[in-house]
Amino acid sequence: MTTFTELGLHKQVLKAVTAEGYDTPTPIQAQAIPHLLEGRDLLGIAQTGTGKTAAFALPTLDYLLDDAQPRKGKSTRVLVLAPTRELAGQIAESFRTYSKYMDCVTQTVFGGVKIGRQIRSLEKGAHVLVATPGRLLDLMNQGAVRLDDVEVLILDEADQMLDMGFIHDLKKIMAKVPDERQTLLFSATMPKQISDLAQQYLDDPVRVSVAPESTTAERVNQGVVHVANGDKLQLLEAVLRDPDLERALVFTRTKHGADKVVRKMMAKGIAAQAIHGNKSQPQRMKALEAFRDGRCKVLIATDIAARGIDIDGISHVINFEMPNVAEQYVHRIGRTARAGREGVAVSFVAEDELYYLREVEKITRIEVDTLPAPEGCEHLVLPTPSRDVRVRKPKGPSRGGGGGRSRGGQGHGGGKGGQKRGRSAKRPGKNQRRRDREKASA
Ligand code: AMP
Repeated sequence: MTTFTELGLHKQVLKAVTAEGYDTPTPIQAQAIPHLLEGRDLLGIAQTGTGKTAAFALPTLDYLLDDAQPRKGKSTRVLVLAPTRELAGQIAESFRTYSKYMDCVTQTVFGGVKIGRQIRSLEKGAHVLVATPGRLLDLMNQGAVRLDDVEVLILDEADQMLDMGFIHDLKKIMAKVPDERQTLLFSATMPKQISDLAQQYLDDPVRVSVAPESTTAERVNQGVVHVANGDKLQLLEAVLRDPDLERALVFTRTKHGADKVVRKMMAKGIAAQAIHGNKSQPQRMKALEAFRDGRCKVLIATDIAARGIDIDGISHVINFEMPNVAEQYVHRIGRTARAGREGVAVSFVAEDELYYLREVEKITRIEVDTLPAPEGCEHLVLPTPSRDVRVRKPKGPSRGGGGGRSRGGQGHGGGKGGQKRGRSAKRPGKNQRRRDREKASA
């Protein structure tokens, strides 16, 4: 087994890793870090919980130490793009943690908060900038930041960024970063759009894939309750009153649905809060904070808002509504049973959601058992449908995804294609400089 010391990271980085209590690299770290230290591009298939943040942050910081430079105004050497404010905040926090024994300034920018402070904080520039695409583009358009010094570009949760309609923003951003750079793309899934993106923007990438957390899925006790849509709130109340429930993350498909569930649970005396895209940043932070420290045991979330959230001790994941993309189910239940603990995932499946349950069973290769009705809810529970009956895909939008429509007002201009990566480096970039250094020391 590889150790962090064997990976050959600078001692400042190693010290931070040790301070965090990590003793062995996770599989994605062991596989990715050696290639990233060589300056290779990387296509990583991995989801939150695998240690992917350190997999990209540690070698990137190591590179900054290799070639230490003061930051330049309105500029950054490392750019990380992430789909949500929560994830951007967490990535920035990780960079700060891992860089605490070196001179490195990490800044974060995301939407939903006033832009003025972000403009001012960018004036002196950053070594690492973590951003959501929309806000970054706004800041670029206002001349608050420029990307011509970017040497390392990291796209995290790329599939989610595409799902959220960020493709046009991404293309505009990609057009402004230098061609000569190191590019890392992480995605939990690998639809064609992602392989196209990789083809367009990565240069001979190393591919690293860590199995979707089947081990997590195996540790999660999964069950389903067949119930009519109109009875779900009553069922949820009963499940939330289970004394074994420490902390529950409840998923709805839409923001509107999340708010409604919160209202109904509050009315029943169950403290619940929602996080989704319509909540302001301070509201989301407050909800997460209360959930983390146990003041509020129930968090209602849409897929997009919950993606990437790293909270330990979630005993129950409840699918109040089934996701209509099967992979989302795996992400959802992966929020529980973290760090070797057990977890429970309960799915409320109405008749019109049976198709989605069957899709989940196909990709996870697990037949999800029907759970006994919670006490007092026997009359709500519908009989388990036979597996022999073929279920048709429901009509209607092919994906709800919590209102993940493309961002309003961004339009669809820009035409097709984006910019092709060329090799017409205006100045020696990171890879070239590394090669030059290697030649010089040979
Ligand atoms: P991530 O997949 O980046 O969200 O990381 C998931 C969690 O694993 C975070 O809480 C990290 O602090 C933790 N972590 C990352 N790398 C290691 C490691 N090598 N050993 C132990 N924990 C780790």
